[in-house]
Amino acid sequence: MARGGRHVEYLLKHLTPADLAELDVLIWALVTGVEEHAPRCALCAGPEPCPHVGRAIQEVLDWRTARLLLTQAERLREHQRRQHERRTA
Ligand SMILES: [Zn+2]
Repeated sequence: MARGGRHVEYLLKHLTPADLAELDVLIWALVTGVEEHAPRCALCAGPEPCPHVGRAIQEVLDWRTARLLLTQAERLREHQRRQHERRTA
């Protein structure tokens, strides 16, 4: 999946309020972790995130993509279930 502006736009359209609430929890954990880590890390004094922070950010971004894919799969499964119910009613 492409990254950047279009990717973010797509995510915002398709993530549910529950998905976004879960994402808020992860972002809160990320920010809290970076706040605890940065004062003790010489590399974090620079303009770019250190490899540890970079990896943590990437984990959250990867989770967001995985959540989107799972939400889409859940929607398709629900649609399939309803079609099956209609056919067998
Ligand atoms: Zn660091």
